[in-house]
Amino acid sequence: MSTPFSSMIARLTETFLPGYVVRRMRVGREWRRWVASITPEILDDLAHAPTEVKKRLFKSYVKLVEIEANAKCNRVCSFCPNIVVDRRRNHTLTDAKLLDRVFEDLGSIDYAQRIRFARYSEPLSNVRYLLDRIRSARRLVPHAELDVVTNTDYLKRSTLAQLRDAGLNKLYMSIYLKPSEKWTSELARVYGERLEKKLGTPITSRSETDVSVRCTYKYEGVELVSSCRNFDEYGVDRGSMLAQYTGETRAGPCREPFWTFIIDYTGAVMPCCNLRSDLDEHKGFIVGDLTNPATTIFDIYAGRLAEWRQSLVGFGSKEHPCQTCRHRDLPSEFIGPISGHLNRQLQRIGRGNLL
Ligand code: SF4
Ligand code: SF4
Repeated sequence: MSTPFSSMIARLTETFLPGYVVRRMRVGREWRRWVASITPEILDDLAHAPTEVKKRLFKSYVKLVEIEANAKCNRVCSFCPNIVVDRRRNHTLTDAKLLDRVFEDLGSIDYAQRIRFARYSEPLSNVRYLLDRIRSARRLVPHAELDVVTNTDYLKRSTLAQLRDAGLNKLYMSIYLKPSEKWTSELARVYGERLEKKLGTPITSRSETDVSVRCTYKYEGVELVSSCRNFDEYGVDRGSMLAQYTGETRAGPCREPFWTFIIDYTGAVMPCCNLRSDLDEHKGFIVGDLTNPATTIFDIYAGRLAEWRQSLVGFGSKEHPCQTCRHRDLPSEFIGPISGHLNRQLQRIGRGNLL
C-alpha cells in the first residue's frame, strides 16, 4: 500500500531520472498495486450480493467509466474498427435518460475517478449534445474527473471555453496523419504546432518516444493533451478485428474488466474498450444492457464481468477475443517478477485455481 510520504519520495526520485526509466518504474509499480488489490470478492460472481456490497466493489476498483455519448465519427481510420462498421452516417444519440441514470448511480457512491466521453464516436460531432451530457455528469457526479477524447476536426478555440464552462477537466486530442503521410517524429511535432496555432494555446511540454509525440498546452481551466502516434508500429487488434495487429499473442493478465466500465451508444456494456456492441463479431461479448432500467452498473460489474476477470487474471494463452490483444499487456521484462507476485497473491486468497 503506498502512503502519501512514499508517493512523495517516488515523485522526487523520478525528477532525477531519465523519462524512459521513470515510465518503466511507473509501469512496474502499477502492476504490483493491481496484484496487491486482488481479493476473492473481485473475482467471484456477486450477482446476488446485496446492493451495498456491489457498490463498494465498484467504488474500490473502477478507475474509468467510458461512455459513448453519440454514434457518429466523421473519420474512417485504417487502425480502427470503424473501417468495418462505418459510423459516418450514424447520427444516433445515446439515450440521455439512460446516461443520467448511470450518473445518478455514480453519484450515489460519490465516484471520484474518471468519466470519459470517447469510444468509437467523435464526441464533438454534436457539441450541443455533448455539452448537455457533460453538464449532467458534472451536476450528478461532482467529484469525478471528466474528460473527452477528440480527433480535433471539430475543435475550435470557442469550443474549449464551452467545454470548460460545462465542467470538463481534461481534453485528450488525438492527432492523426493523412493516409498518404508516413509518421515521423518531425511530422508529429509539426501537427502539434498546427494545433497550437489553431487553438491559440501555447505548447507547454513535449515528450517523445520512438512511436509517439505527446504535447501539453496552456489553457486556463481545462488540461489539454495531444498525442500523435505511429500506427504502423503501435496498435491494438481490437478484439481480433484488425489483422495488421494480430501478429503477437498476449502474455500477461488483462486488468481492463477490473478497472474500466464501458458503455456503448446502444446502452450495451462491454468488457473492455476494444470490444463493441455494433460489431456482429462482438455481440456475443455484451455483458449487460442498460436500456433495461432494472439493470444497474453495479449489477453488471459485480455479476457478468466477474467471469471476464476470472478468465483474464492469470498468465498464459487467452481465449478469443483476447488471444492476440496487446492492449496494456505486461512488458516482457516484468513477466518474471509480476507472475511471482500474482502467484503468491492468488494462493494467499485461495484462488490459486485461476493461475
Ligand atoms: S480512430 Fe477515432 S477518429 Fe478514427 S475512425 Fe476510429 S473513432 Fe473515428
Ligand atoms: S485482453 Fe480481452 S478483455 Fe483485455 S483489453 Fe484485450 S480484448 Fe479486452
